[in-house]
Amino acid sequence: MSQYDLVVIGAGSGGVRAARMAASFGARVAVIEDRYLGGTCVNVGCVPKKLYVYGSSFSEAITDASGYGWDLKNNGFNWSKLRDKKIDEINRLNIIYDDLLSNSGSELFFCRGKIIDPHTVSVGTHSLSTQRILIATGGWPRAPDMPGMELTKTSNEIFDLQDLPNRILIVGGGYIAVEFAGIFAGLGVETTLSYRGPNLLKDFDREIVNQLIEEMKNKGVDVRLNHRLFGFEQVADGIRVDHSDEKDYDLIIDDVLMAVGRVPNTSNLGLENTAITTRLDGSIEVFDNFQTKEPSIYAIGDVTGGMALTPVALAEGMALAKYLFADEPAAVVDYDLIPTTIFSQPNIGVIGLSEEQVILKGHHAKVFVSRFRPMKHTLSGRQEQSLFKLIVDAESDRVLGLHMLSPDAGEILQGFGVALKAGATKSDFDRTIGIHPTAAEELVTMREPARIVGG
Ligand SMILES: Cc1cc2nc3c(=O)[nH]c(=O)nc-3n(C[C@H](O)[C@H](O)[C@H](O)COP(=O)(O)OP(=O)(O)OC[C@H]3O[C@@H](n4cnc5c(N)ncnc54)[C@H](O)[C@@H]3O)c2cc1C
Repeated sequence: MSQYDLVVIGAGSGGVRAARMAASFGARVAVIEDRYLGGTCVNVGCVPKKLYVYGSSFSEAITDASGYGWDLKNNGFNWSKLRDKKIDEINRLNIIYDDLLSNSGSELFFCRGKIIDPHTVSVGTHSLSTQRILIATGGWPRAPDMPGMELTKTSNEIFDLQDLPNRILIVGGGYIAVEFAGIFAGLGVETTLSYRGPNLLKDFDREIVNQLIEEMKNKGVDVRLNHRLFGFEQVADGIRVDHSDEKDYDLIIDDVLMAVGRVPNTSNLGLENTAITTRLDGSIEVFDNFQTKEPSIYAIGDVTGGMALTPVALAEGMALAKYLFADEPAAVVDYDLIPTTIFSQPNIGVIGLSEEQVILKGHHAKVFVSRFRPMKHTLSGRQEQSLFKLIVDAESDRVLGLHMLSPDAGEILQGFGVALKAGATKSDFDRTIGIHPTAAEELVTMREPARIVGG
């Protein structure tokens, strides 16, 4: 008989949730983790990132306070203090994850797990036999092949920098690059954001992203689009960047953050000892109920190449545990209308389709737009703009897309996520009384469409 009903490889968002739930349903569970409990999100992702977003926002708050009569002196910022407090907080969370797993009855192995055969996983010098295996090994920063890559850092290393650089180059066009550009600029670092394509955040609503780029530039970020990089070289006063605009200017910086995407974390996992199939990008193919081609092996979270978000990995882990051990007929997650936020400064919040996607899908839609200066900045004097959009199907009146560029968009959006999931129409928005004075009330007071598209 097998030692375990389920062996989970990876104690990140999805793996921990699946293990805890499975154990709570009476399954004998082992969890294998080789780096840190809580995975990417807790250690080098969502949590430390949000703490640094908070940390970096105080420079603006101190400046803005003078518009409200405060006479504050900014005595400067202490990077090692913020970094070390962040480390303490993550250590606290690691202990909580350890307790959660042991209290659930799961057995934890702190080492690398490797699949030996469809029912056996090696942990160091011995092996665990199991009825089923769950792969929840997440993702890993992609490293392009370029001279001087050893001089660069990824999101794995950037949180624990020994010293705050004076000048940083951030490479990439996705949310991690954009968020770190805001963080470093807010901390007073001379920040260049370089993207080789024309469109940052390419799957997001263009009008919203273009306004974000304006706001980032106003905050001092040097945004370089269609910017190609060929390599990095150590010189006396920093790292020299070999780049496509070199004829116009020299780019010498102190640190480089490469945020050019993530790849599924399957190296040395033993997939070759199974019938598991992977896609071109290396992600594990899963079929109904998160089952791989190998019937005893399941996979969830970032390693499967779906939406790389913690709440998605959590939902998948929960659905799978209920299906395997609590008689749920199927493991199903509804991926439609997932609200997401980019913790840029200001935030971008999104639910549903962008204006470009609505047109592409052939909808006939009304686009409502509200652009305004947040009330806080009437006295602070800051020239920041917020931009809200509602995209409404002209025939059914259903809200197809809700987009906002606004401080606290992440907080505002969650409730609207419920409304859109419940099928809210524009008339539902119209008969909802606003909360005054807030930014969010704009979403229920948009009267005339700015334009009609598609159809
Ligand atoms: C910088 C950054 C910011 C992010 N911000 C957000 C955000 O704001 N909101 C959001 O929803 N998502 C965010 N994400 C994404 C989120 O972190 C991931 O979607 C989520 O962590 C995926 O969970 P997972 O369980 O699939 O994998 P992970 O959380 O990555 O966990 C995988 C675990 O498996 C372990 N592992 C891998 N291979 C082995 C092996 N062979 N043996 C033992 N252990 C192994 C790893 O060490 C890791 O702990 C961010 C990611 C990054 C990088």
